[in-house]
Amino acid sequence: MKCPGCGSRTAVEIDMHSEGFTAEEYPVKECGSCGMVWRVRLEKGEPKIDIIKAAESKKNG
Ligand SMILES: [Zn+2]
Repeated sequence: MKCPGCGSRTAVEIDMHSEGFTAEEYPVKECGSCGMVWRVRLEKGEPKIDIIKAAESKKNG
């Protein structure tokens, strides 16, 4: 799926368990382009996007 932040298709599924997040039901996605982290869950059959981490602006360097 496309990144809800920047529309990039470079999103990858990541395992957040080691960082204290629980993603047992729905996979967590991270955008390789803008750094946004989100999860899609189904609520009453409708997909809802939970933004876990907002897109990061690039730092110096
Ligand atoms: Zn993005």
